[in-house]
Amino acid sequence: MRFAGGRYDGRPQPPLLSPDAAGLARPLADLPGVRPLLARRLAGFGLETVGDLLTHYPRRYEDFTDRKPIADLKVGEEATVRATVERVTLDHGQRRRVTLLKVVLRDQSGVIVAVWFNQPWLAKVLEPGMVLSLRGAVRLRGGAPSFVVKAHEILAGEGETVHTEGIVPVYPASESISARVLRDLVHDARRAARSVPDPLSGTMRAAERLPAKADAVLAIHAPRSHPEAAAARERLVLEELLLMQLGLLLHKSAEQRASRALALGRAGETAARFLSGLPFALTAHQTKAIAEIDADLERTTPMRRLLQGDVGSGKTVVAVHTLLRAVEKGHQGAFMAPTETLAEQHLETLRALLGPLLTCELLTSRLTAAERRAALAGIASGRAAIVVGTHALIQSDVEFRDLAVVVVDEQHRFGVVQRDEMGRRAAAGGRTPHALYMTATPIPRTLALTFYGDLDVTVIGGAPAGRTPVVTRLISEGRRAAGYDSVRKQLDKGRQAYVVCPLIEESEALESAAAVAEAERLAAGEFRAYAVGVLHGQMKTAEREAAMAAFKAGTTDVLVATSVIEVGIDVPNATVMIIEGAERFGLAQLHQLRGRVGRGTEKSYCLLFTSPRREQSSGERSDARLQALRATSDGFALADRDLEIRGEGQLFGTRQSGLPDLKLAKLTRDREAVVRARRLAREILAGDPYLESPADAPLADAVRAAFGDELAWLLKA
Ligand code: ADP
Ligand code: MG
Repeated sequence: MRFAGGRYDGRPQPPLLSPDAAGLARPLADLPGVRPLLARRLAGFGLETVGDLLTHYPRRYEDFTDRKPIADLKVGEEATVRATVERVTLDHGQRRRVTLLKVVLRDQSGVIVAVWFNQPWLAKVLEPGMVLSLRGAVRLRGGAPSFVVKAHEILAGEGETVHTEGIVPVYPASESISARVLRDLVHDARRAARSVPDPLSGTMRAAERLPAKADAVLAIHAPRSHPEAAAARERLVLEELLLMQLGLLLHKSAEQRASRALALGRAGETAARFLSGLPFALTAHQTKAIAEIDADLERTTPMRRLLQGDVGSGKTVVAVHTLLRAVEKGHQGAFMAPTETLAEQHLETLRALLGPLLTCELLTSRLTAAERRAALAGIASGRAAIVVGTHALIQSDVEFRDLAVVVVDEQHRFGVVQRDEMGRRAAAGGRTPHALYMTATPIPRTLALTFYGDLDVTVIGGAPAGRTPVVTRLISEGRRAAGYDSVRKQLDKGRQAYVVCPLIEESEALESAAAVAEAERLAAGEFRAYAVGVLHGQMKTAEREAAMAAFKAGTTDVLVATSVIEVGIDVPNATVMIIEGAERFGLAQLHQLRGRVGRGTEKSYCLLFTSPRREQSSGERSDARLQALRATSDGFALADRDLEIRGEGQLFGTRQSGLPDLKLAKLTRDREAVVRARRLAREILAGDPYLESPADAPLADAVRAAFGDELAWLLKA
């Protein structure tokens, strides 16, 4: 009866839960008021248990605290009234399409006619003598005032309201489950809040002036005032962030406790000769980064360092130096990259920089069975000094003879777990390798505290000397010809160009096919006087290596590519890039793509070609993105701007990062809470480093629950 026909008739219903039957794990499908169809819809929405319902937090609140006597209602002003039904009449409109339900209501101050449109069934529900609470506004209809009802409920017993009075929560709803149904369900489930365990001790709550968990859960769903709602949110947000920080810090200390690395001593001659042999002087930032890493490598605590630096800031040199520190002492180094193309390029770079003296091995999933066997043998025997590869490096059959250093490039492309898997690889004698994680994604500090909360951080700022910022231009459909003209000008000077084809998220095959077609079109058209190559994700390893080599050697002038060139590709003679369908890319991705040019001393250009028929709805936001890209080349500024334009949800989803999902906290909005949580976590762990004391058991349980299986090994159960 409760949600019969999907309609809500406003009749009070017996509660779904009696206070004693309040198990948090109780399936919603078991509850008397929840029929199978509703249960299925709720499950589809991620709500399966009473506990799920309690953590389905309101998105916002409606303030319905303005309850008024009928006599005080003003025309046009929304308000809530409580009144008794005197008479019910149902009018059918002239064309019978509109029904008008009129109910005469009375309270102590006066009388008014309440009206509902097109809800004839209510005529059978509402009866004289019933007491209603109603939300609506007075309108003048043909000169006479009537109260047009937005929501109502029938009062019984103590006159408790759910939908029409006070501060009313608005829940994230879906097409098949209305916010009103959710409000009813949560309202009934609230009784179970009393059995929600509180991970924060009484002492800590007192010290931090935080409400108890049960009170906070009750208050966030049914606050009596706005400050009460804010205090409840603050407490729940802090708890979420605290669990996250505890997990991260425990992760860090667990790794350091459980593992010993090989102390590599001071940098030797090979490493020094590598640096002095470079055709350029290191920037101050590079020198500082190398010094920090060198200090880490002298210790037996495994290095776990994040090297953050904008595209083109020169991280690769630092990475190679780090690998050489292991190799020169007779150990192995591994260099992991997120794509085949980038791994292949790193191999090229290493071979070019290090010459034939060192054996570098490639390990990707594209090797043939025989190649793979040979590579694995070289890795196991130690013949391979440096192994470059993709995810293939963390497969279980890969055994290093003596791995001492691991570098993970573009580490944000890997989940926390994959990243650490590489870092945890046991080396000879049960030792853990030192790990350097590199990223070109600049993120604000408080976010770094969370996403990289278990790492030490080094930032490489600025760019190598002599770089001029890339000139970025938006090229509309009508100006394409001029765009190609300016590319040809560069080619005639002996420079090279990239053409990046539009992103097709759904299919790498389609994207690759489009790149091939575009290369053919350009080779026969705009660039017929030049050598045009193509690079995409569906090519065989050898083909791709050949395409890259030809472009590096200058044999091809124009490289038509999919977004596979986004990461890492480094050809300093390439000074111009066309990005087709630029509006389809995200700002961070465009910045990465653009980072492929402007890597030498020549002035470079990035031409953003936009599609003629841009989607109306996304048009404005994509314009804002492209304008931002044109205006600055500072990755940090662009990251901030991207946050503003897109909101943090898309940019910093915690899900794919392997961190717990944040239900309430917003890392951008709750920056102060992140810092506070970090401080609290440190304080707690200073007293109880492994959360082992009985007093901290609820906290340890909550951390384990938040991180789930992935990081469960952190804490003894
Ligand atoms: P990223 O940080 O994006 O990985 P790279 O390491 O690929 O950047 O470096 C970009 C380009 O800058 C490369 O061609 C590299 O050889 C060059 N480079 C690196 N350090 C310096 C430097 N100190 N001075 C001049 N050029 C440098
Ligand atoms: Mg790089």
